[in-house]
Amino acid sequence: MSDATKKVALITGGNKGIGLETARQLGALGITVLVGARDLKRGEAAAAELKREGIDARALKLDVVDDTDRKAAAKFIEKEFGRLDILVNNAGIASEDMSANSTLTTTEETLRTIFDTNFFAVVALTNALLPLLRKSAAGRVVNLSSILGSLTLHATAGSPIYNAKMFAYDASKTALNAYTIHLAHALKETKIKVNSAHPGWVKTELGGEGAPMEIVDGAKTSVRLATLPDDGPTGGYFHLGDTLPW
Ligand code: NDP
Repeated sequence: MSDATKKVALITGGNKGIGLETARQLGALGITVLVGARDLKRGEAAAAELKREGIDARALKLDVVDDTDRKAAAKFIEKEFGRLDILVNNAGIASEDMSANSTLTTTEETLRTIFDTNFFAVVALTNALLPLLRKSAAGRVVNLSSILGSLTLHATAGSPIYNAKMFAYDASKTALNAYTIHLAHALKETKIKVNSAHPGWVKTELGGEGAPMEIVDGAKTSVRLATLPDDGPTGGYFHLGDTLPW
């Protein structure tokens, strides 16, 4: 039986990297965390690690690009908890060479693959879970974007990302930012807040060894946006306490 007074959070791609650390930090706040993982074994291993730390964690098989998994996840959460308080759309992929300008070489296949995970799956999963988020007293949706989704910074010579142009990844995060703005507008009369997070450049499999930020700090923006108070922002784009330009 679940405890109706505890908040419930789903973190996609929660089995490693920033997602696992986000689950850990939300769990440490007393929130029940559902560790979404496309490979259930990896999800179970991550949930077991969190449980050993005293966190109420459960693994959930969820390949975000799989509609059957998305529907089954919604059904499971409905049956177990009757609502969802926090959705962290964290799962993401980047297949291009971080150091190259890939605009002239990116294939249509790469674009489609990256958009499937980083954009289309987020919209589909969020839609599947919206009825449960609406039942929360304070629903929060966090979309893991990136500073690389900022059109303003990409267009500004001298900005920190001006020469970091991974076309498919960057465009997928720009599209995700558009979703944040549109969904926040669609839900502006509800208690649900929707925001985009830039975690920082973080030492994970995706971020690489050269990244300056530790994972423990990389999860902080997601955790902050997942636990915003009722008078907190919606439809914004944040890194830690700072607002980023779209
Ligand atoms: P990692 O590569 O360490 O982890 C990515 C997670 O996403 C893994 O759990 C992976 O699962 C999961 N995932 C990928 N595809 C799917 C899928 N189809 N269904 C379910 N899960 C999936 O990356 P990070 O922790 O670094 O990244 C987390 C988010 O933060 C991403 O959205 C990324 O774009 C964003 N971000 C990261 C930055 C960084 O510097 N690290 C900078 C800016 C943004 P599996 O283990 O099975 O592969």
